[in-house]
Amino acid sequence: MKTQTLGYPHIGRDREMKRALEGYWKGRLDGENLLETLHQVEQDAWTAQGEAGIDYVGVGDATLYDPVLDWAVRLGLVAERFRGLEGLDLTFTMARGKPGIPALELTKWFDTNYHYLVPEVDADVRPKAHFADYLDTIRRAQAALGDRAVPIVLGPLTLLRLARLQGSFDEVLAALLPLYSSLLEQLQALGVAEVQLHEPGLMLADVQEHKEHYLSAYATLSQTGLPINLVTYFDDLGAAFPWVVTLPVAVISLDFTRGGTAGLVEGHDWPAGKTLGAGVIAGRSVWQVRPRETLELIRSLPADASVRLGTSCSLQFVPYQAARETGLPEELRDVLAFAQEKLEELRWLAKAASSDDGAETAFRANEATWERFRRFAPSEPEVARRIEALTPKDFEREVPYSDRREKQIQLPPLPTTTIGSFPQTKEVRRLRRRFKRGEITPEAYEAGIDAWIGYAIGAQEALGLDVLVHGEFERSDMVEYFAEKLKGFAFTEHGWVQSYGNRYVRPPIIFADVVRQGSMTVREFQKAQSFTVKPVKGMLTGPVTILNWSYPRTDISEREIALQLALALQDEIADLEAAGARIIQVDEPALREGLPFKPERWDDYLTWAVDAFRLATSHVRPETQVHTHMCYSEFGEVLGAIDRLNADVISIENARSDDETLRELSEYGYHREVGPGVYDVHSPVVPDKSEIKAKLRTYLKHLEWSQIWVNPDCGLKTRGWDKVFPALNHIVEAAVEIRGEFPATPE
Ligand code: GLN
Ligand code: ZN
Repeated sequence: MKTQTLGYPHIGRDREMKRALEGYWKGRLDGENLLETLHQVEQDAWTAQGEAGIDYVGVGDATLYDPVLDWAVRLGLVAERFRGLEGLDLTFTMARGKPGIPALELTKWFDTNYHYLVPEVDADVRPKAHFADYLDTIRRAQAALGDRAVPIVLGPLTLLRLARLQGSFDEVLAALLPLYSSLLEQLQALGVAEVQLHEPGLMLADVQEHKEHYLSAYATLSQTGLPINLVTYFDDLGAAFPWVVTLPVAVISLDFTRGGTAGLVEGHDWPAGKTLGAGVIAGRSVWQVRPRETLELIRSLPADASVRLGTSCSLQFVPYQAARETGLPEELRDVLAFAQEKLEELRWLAKAASSDDGAETAFRANEATWERFRRFAPSEPEVARRIEALTPKDFEREVPYSDRREKQIQLPPLPTTTIGSFPQTKEVRRLRRRFKRGEITPEAYEAGIDAWIGYAIGAQEALGLDVLVHGEFERSDMVEYFAEKLKGFAFTEHGWVQSYGNRYVRPPIIFADVVRQGSMTVREFQKAQSFTVKPVKGMLTGPVTILNWSYPRTDISEREIALQLALALQDEIADLEAAGARIIQVDEPALREGLPFKPERWDDYLTWAVDAFRLATSHVRPETQVHTHMCYSEFGEVLGAIDRLNADVISIENARSDDETLRELSEYGYHREVGPGVYDVHSPVVPDKSEIKAKLRTYLKHLEWSQIWVNPDCGLKTRGWDKVFPALNHIVEAAVEIRGEFPATPE
């Protein structure tokens, strides 16, 4: 059986790309040095995949910043404000902006934690090919891999689906297709055996509306004669399966690790003469395959189809190599598989699938490794017992909202607050770094953090905010902070994956039952509250967000992991209450992004996600006010679930036109309290008082004034104090002035 890959990590084993990019931006490196680094990183990826014996190696996916941006530039999809720029200047201006030229918007690549730049396609754009660099890359790949090099190309329909289009879809597509055809011809002239066209857009629920586009586009592209491998991932094809598999391409590559692809393949005849690229190695999981299950899956594939084994998607979503993580316990490290290990898995699975020789031995070794891991990370009986004992009451607050509200804290109308974090300045980061490295004692570190807490409290008092926060100075990241304190999480040393451009993250790995080992936030809360008589919010990250921003274990369901996290948070909340917190905020910014692609699976997800939040927050006294925070504005679809969270107050992003978010809330009849952000914290611009007042007046048209809180869109950690002071000053003044316009003050 042959093997294929769909992309490889390209940040450099030692984050070479980050260093090179930052060096280039600071003027320490020239463009040539930068490209040399990129070429070296590509070369390493080709060598690794070549040496692993992969038959069809995806190439051409490495990038200086973002592959979607690369394709936009290669196809001349450049918005007006960038025209006239070229080369690296064009790429980096589109990616990062320049004074007076805002960058493209960054957004999530499907449901991954990778962010791509959203191409803007103006109505008058004339697509134009700039393929020279790309073709050059493919030539270098061919030199390294011969005809095993398979160019990766972002498919035209997914590209347009992800872009922001001003003109008509049909017109832009019609203009792009000749460029794609010409690219395929040029690749064919180079002698490549096939090309991968990546169309993950095929698994989106709305693909049925684009069926005609796909049919005609692929009819055109197939005419060049270069065999096309049509690649899709992150979910099954759903109702589109029957027509997608009959598109005129040589290979169809499907993701067997998410959604119900195996069932779809089983339920339909596989078209004769077409190769099936079976993505059986989960490209987004850090765990080794369980070979018996995987082999069973492989053996169930249509006997008459020619089958190729592959990764389910690009390996860019996992780090380079698990074997390097010598700081991890061996028992755990041995059951992890990052990119390098997945190549090895592909090779021996392909061998095992073709013949029984050797398979048994490999299986036994693998099973022994898992067995050893299970002994190393046994389940926690206490967690199992608590989950077993859960009853509906555990998910329900003791007193309904209508009765508990009056027992809770009373504040002036339009109360002002912030979302949690205050500026993570150089000094703050340095303090944490020195502590981590052991350069200062725990006492000195805590004193340093407390000084910042005191500063933040003093600042908030002076600004006149009503509900204060401690500032989150001790947290480098809202998930990592909790993961480090909880049992059941592991951290890698080199396990970086790209979040976007030069920003990489090291997501924690949930490898065992989650157990709280002691209070996680109480000390900082108490310290903050000791500096003021105003209420300070206890501040936690919610179970769904911790789960979604980690690599989950795969031997228990996501629901069960979320419930374990919820129990740990429930205990933390009890401690915060006991320490005097009257308000506790549990952030769930990742709730929306975990939503499955197919609407028929939303219910299932939202049910356990809401359950987890409620399990964490329902055990509080009626007097305790539970807040939550979400930072996305497209929450219309999940408003029902947000309501079911039963939080007393939510703060939400409000980046869209003022009316839209508010209209959704009022049409829904949302009746609890809500703080739609009045200040876009991702923009360097400080809002005017008049602007904020105008926003508040709009809010008042849609919601009861007693429902409205006044707060920024999100945490202030990325802003400087120089922006935070005037912004919050304007926010408080605006709220106070609008309050004055409402004579009927509530009692
Ligand atoms: N409390 C967090 C903060 O203020 C929330 C961050 C987020 O929503 N992403 O930073
Ligand atoms: Zn936020």
